Amino acid sequence: MTMIRDNLQQVTARIVTACTAAGREPASVRLLAVSKIFPPAAVRDAHAAGQRAFGENYIQEGVSKIEALADLRADLEWHCIGPLQSNKTRLVAEHFDWVHSIDRLKIAQRLSEQRSADLPPLQVCLQVNVDGGANKSGASPDEALALAQAVAALPRLRLRGLMAIPEPADGFDAQRALFMRAAAIFDRIKATGIALDTLSLGMSADMEAAIAAGSTMVRVGTAIFGKR
Ligand SMILES: *Cc1c(COP(=O)(O)O)cnc(C)c1O
Repeated sequence: MTMIRDNLQQVTARIVTACTAAGREPASVRLLAVSKIFPPAAVRDAHAAGQRAFGENYIQEGVSKIEALADLRADLEWHCIGPLQSNKTRLVAEHFDWVHSIDRLKIAQRLSEQRSADLPPLQVCLQVNVDGGANKSGASPDEALALAQAVAALPRLRLRGLMAIPEPADGFDAQRALFMRAAAIFDRIKATGIALDTLSLGMSADMEAAIAAGSTMVRVGTAIFGKR
């Protein structure tokens, strides 16, 4: 409990320092606590320390955790950040608040069809692949605009922005340069008149470089919950 609370404080301090270094308002970056692998009790501790937004990679595990924490449901925001196959979209549409990992239209269409009218629209980000080879998930930069236009038109989704997971690079500047590719695609889509407000970039090891590149949401697991 104390460890998670202390870690949250340290991560928040890192965010503030990185924002100051980048000439940004600390409030412009949200912290998503990535709780994958950790039990519901860890989420409960983080919630008690004031954390509200949680990210899960594995759909089934995430849904079990959401159900185990049903008493806190109204106070928590659940983000699906992992690879999403067609056969899992219904679970996601029924249980999560956000999805960061949409990389093709078919997945988005299914989520929109399966999102109940009783729930708010599902908040979504498109995952873009900014470094080509190594990390194959995500739409290519060339496909991103057309995908954004199509997803923005779906009735039960609300397109919020982009997510990227570049491969680890050698040093701050190289890492920031990769994140800047995502920021450039984000700006290009916004310039066409699609209102985006979320750039989901940065994890425990590289959140400073992501914030320097314009991240508005860092997804942090290890630095909050410990090693997996
Ligand atoms: C696991 C994971 C994170 C958190 O990574 P850490 O290095 O533990 O901070 C962030 N985003 C995604 C998509 C992940 O799978």
